[in-house]
Amino acid sequence: METVNILGIKINKINMDSAVETAKSYMADGGFHYIFTPNSEIIMAAYKNGDFASKINSADMCTADGIGVVYAAKILGQPVSGRIAGYDLVMRLLEDLPKIGKRAYFFGGAPGVADEAKEKLEKKFPGIEICGSANGYFDAEREKEIIADINEKKPDLLLVCLGFPKQENWIFEHKDELNVGLAMGVGGTLDVIAGRAQRAPDIFIKLGLEWFYRLLKQPSRIGRMMALPKFLFTVIWKKVTKSK
Ligand code: UDP
Repeated sequence: METVNILGIKINKINMDSAVETAKSYMADGGFHYIFTPNSEIIMAAYKNGDFASKINSADMCTADGIGVVYAAKILGQPVSGRIAGYDLVMRLLEDLPKIGKRAYFFGGAPGVADEAKEKLEKKFPGIEICGSANGYFDAEREKEIIADINEKKPDLLLVCLGFPKQENWIFEHKDELNVGLAMGVGGTLDVIAGRAQRAPDIFIKLGLEWFYRLLKQPSRIGRMMALPKFLFTVIWKKVTKSK
């Protein structure tokens, strides 16, 4: 798969349909795979921390989650085919699970969120099999129980929704002990499926302004969101200084 290197992170230049097919092939081939969906904030964190960067780069696939990443690829002269938000990729996969006879496990979110998400999905995608769930607030002992439960259920798809960087670190740390086809680190996805958080209206997403909508809804995220301009500035700065 072709990639573009953005501040040391390899982002796959894949479109949504190919990402869905690739993810399904990961679930089918009998091995363990994982996908991360880096946005500007994650790439900036990886840029500052080589250890975290190598964890992100160890994934089978990294999609461009966020308009900042799409712009960065364009600035570097290697455009990706568009944004692939973790939530959108997950919804495409969940929709197809009953058709391909695969099962999912939900890990993360506050107590109750995964069960609410499961209930919503069973109505939306009849026949879907969510074989287990665990909330994302655990101590070491509970973590062992969660891993044992996941391995007993052997899900084809494991959604790890612990927020960044916890989910990426968790998947990397446990990659050799998970009896799973495909794990994905996908932040607040379960909150959105459960209806506890809302995505921006389509018009914001289409205009590349989902970040602005989130800022309006949660002004306290302003600190985190400063990663976006810092990220684009760093990409431009690196490009300009390299070309001199
Ligand atoms: N979360 C969790 N365990 C933790 C910290 C966070 O399960 O120790 C969950 C939290 O409940 C929320 C998600 O992780 O559902 C983080 O969502 P957010 O939208 O902040 O994701 P991010 O933008 O950080 O990827």
